[in-house]
Amino acid sequence: MMSEIIDTKDLKNDPVFGQLSFDGHEQVVFCNDEDTGLKAIIGIHNTTLGPALGGTRMWQYKTEWEALNDVLRLSRGMTYKSAITGLNLGGGKAVIIGDAKTQKNDALMRKFGEYVNSLSGRYITAEDVGMETRDMDVIREVTPHVTGVSEAIGGSGNPSPVTAYGVYMGMKAAAQYKFGSDKLEGKKVLVQGVGHVGETLVKHITNEGAQVILNDINETRLEELSKKYNANVVLGNDIYGLDLDIYAPCALGATVNDASIQQLNAKVIAGAANNQLANELKHGKMLQEKGIAYAPDFLINAGGIINVYAEVAGYGKDESLKRTENIYNTTLEIFNLAEKENITTHQAAFNIAQGRIDARKKEQNS
Ligand code: NAD
Repeated sequence: MMSEIIDTKDLKNDPVFGQLSFDGHEQVVFCNDEDTGLKAIIGIHNTTLGPALGGTRMWQYKTEWEALNDVLRLSRGMTYKSAITGLNLGGGKAVIIGDAKTQKNDALMRKFGEYVNSLSGRYITAEDVGMETRDMDVIREVTPHVTGVSEAIGGSGNPSPVTAYGVYMGMKAAAQYKFGSDKLEGKKVLVQGVGHVGETLVKHITNEGAQVILNDINETRLEELSKKYNANVVLGNDIYGLDLDIYAPCALGATVNDASIQQLNAKVIAGAANNQLANELKHGKMLQEKGIAYAPDFLINAGGIINVYAEVAGYGKDESLKRTENIYNTTLEIFNLAEKENITTHQAAFNIAQGRIDARKKEQNS
């Protein structure tokens, strides 16, 4: 009888599984340590294809709800990223609540590593925003279930350059589809967020002769990079109405939303940020209707996971780069498939990924 009076989307009654971002997640682990001040959440979305591998993000979330929402969305994204990329990995992610610049230290990292270790390999961590290769080395002291560690201790090193290379490949494929040529020379590209991935992407496209516009909340970095790459800079967040060919979101997620799509003049969206579409169905459709070619984020930013997967599958750098280069072909296939089936590119990529998971599940159950 109780079920008749409970609204499953009412967060008061169902504060965990009733979260709007909850989507069949297998396990969510809350980590709390008073001695180090660690407050973290590990989200394991799906382990059908293998252990849940995904980076840890350290961020100053305004509320715990915001952190939970982020880890749920990010871990789900990893499931589909690994599936579309053909890796034998499930989807997971972790968030640490705090300021990476002032609150991160080795004791905190080790304690976090102990929580990762307690999951016995169901979750394998790596870098994400606010984390460095060095942090992964510290975590390795207490658990083997960490990737993205230094090359000096047998790891694959910082995944960001490989991620940037994959985004570059995805951007070229999107240009090929939309403009009939994958040459980026003369194309006006806005790179929003010039951190680890964004900067390397800027390097690739500047080398090709693109006209790059940089945007970041870190003005010191903007000044430094505008000189280094002879690029223009735009400050603030009133950027979507600029005269652009390509918009490359490389900061945080959900920047493709009702407001930004209305203003957007770019004909292509191709960037590194995870979960770019605030609402996958609605905003994917709005982009399709506006004729904006959207290269699905979880497809084109997979270079990093391909790079760290080398540590699990035992392949070398050349193989990582070869697999990452193939993002070009897959992206082009997705654009053509979406056009043929009259669905969004996000849906086309998602369907292939889900198909792979369903097939494995069937095998496991037979
Ligand atoms: P990073 O922290 O090195 O860089 C992020 C940059 O974005 C910083 O310079 C920051 O100042 C800037 N930024 C933050 N908020 C902003 C805003 N509102 N407007 C403009 N700039 C803003 O992170 P990263 O490793 O370069 O990752 C960038 C994005 O790519 C993230 O969404 C991350 O999840 C995703 N991603 C990264 C990898 C990887 O290998 N590092 C792999 C896949 C996906």
